[in-house]
Amino acid sequence: MARGFKEELGKGGFGTVFKGNLRSGPCVAIKMLGKSKGNGQDFINEVTTIGRIHHLNVVQLLGFCIEGSKRALVYEFMRNGSLDKYIFSKEGSINLSYNQLHDISIGVARGIDYLHNGCEMKILHFDIKPHNILLDENFIPKISDFGLAKLYPITNSIVTMTAAKGTIGYMAPELFYKNIGGVSYKADVYSFGMLLMEMASKRKNMNPHAAHSSQHYFPFWIYDQLQKEAEIELEDVTEEDIKIVKKMVMVALWCIQINPNDRPSMSKVVEMLEGDIENLEMPSEPTLYPDEMISSDETTNSDQRVSSDFISSSDIGENITSPSLENISSKM
Ligand code: ATP
Ligand code: MG
Repeated sequence: MARGFKEELGKGGFGTVFKGNLRSGPCVAIKMLGKSKGNGQDFINEVTTIGRIHHLNVVQLLGFCIEGSKRALVYEFMRNGSLDKYIFSKEGSINLSYNQLHDISIGVARGIDYLHNGCEMKILHFDIKPHNILLDENFIPKISDFGLAKLYPITNSIVTMTAAKGTIGYMAPELFYKNIGGVSYKADVYSFGMLLMEMASKRKNMNPHAAHSSQHYFPFWIYDQLQKEAEIELEDVTEEDIKIVKKMVMVALWCIQINPNDRPSMSKVVEMLEGDIENLEMPSEPTLYPDEMISSDETTNSDQRVSSDFISSSDIGENITSPSLENISSKM
C-alpha cells in the first residue's frame, strides 16, 4: 500500500507517517508505530477510539495492520497537511485569511466538543496542538492522533492520571501542579485555548526572540493591550479582520484560565466563537503558574473544588520531575 514507504509525510512521538494508496484509488496516510514505545496499549486505544467515531471534524481511521510487533494505522489522507504549516508561516506556504482561520477554529472546537459530549464515551484527547489538526482539500479541519487519548465512562468527570501527558506549551497546568484541581475535559479546553491564541496571533505563544521582552509570552501582552483598549495593529487587514482576531483572543483567554472551573466547556466555546464579540466578557488576567491563583483563591473563592483525585506527586514524577519555573518556560 505504501509502495515501499518512499513518501514520508512526517514524524511524531509515536512513529512515522507515510503516504500510500488504497487499491481502489484513494490516497491514505499510514502511521507506522515505533516498536519500542509502549506495550501496544496506545495502539489499541487509537484503534478502538477512532474506529468507532465519525464526525466531520475528526479524522477517519480506515483500517489498521498488526503483524508481530509491527503495527500500523491507516487514515484518510489530508491533502493540506497540518495546521502548524499555516500559522507559523514558512516561506512559500499559503497564507490563510482570518476568516478562514476563524472557520477552522470553529471546526476544531466542534470536533473536540463531539469527542467530549457527542459519543457514547467521553473522549479526552490530551494532545490538542497545531500538528494534530489536519486540513482536507477544502481546509476543513480534522482532529487527529488519539494515541494519547483515553476512554472514560461519561460519569467520571475527574480522571486519575498515571502520568502527565501531552506537549509542553499546550498542556494544562493541572497536569503539572497537583494543587489546581482534578484533571478533566477542561485540560483539552486549555490546549485548545493555546492553539486558538496561536491561530489569532499567527505566532508561538512563547517566543523568547520577540522584539520586546513584554511580548515573549503573547497571552500576557495581548491581555494588557485589550485592558488598555489599545488598537491591535496588524498589517493588511480590514476592520472585520481585527474584530475576528479580538474575538478569537478573548475566547482563547477564557480557555487558558488557570483554574479549570473558570474555563468554558467546548460547546460554550463553539457558541462564543459563532457569536458576536459584543457578547463576550473580559476574562481574568492569564497566569502561567498556580501560586498567584492559590493566593487569590484563598481570599475570593472558598468553595473551590477539593478532590481526592488530585494527581499525586509520585504519579506525575514518571514523566516530569518537579517542574521548576525555568524548566517549563525554557521548553516552551
Ligand atoms: P504527535 O506524535 O504528538 O501527534 P505529530 O502530530 O507532529 O506529533 P504525527 O501524528 O506522527 O506527529 O504526524 C506527523 C506528520 O504527518 C503530521 O505533522 C502531518 O503533517 C502528517 N500527517 C499525519 N497524518 C496525516 C494524514 N492523515 N494526512 C496527511 N498528513 C498527515
Ligand atoms: Mg499527530
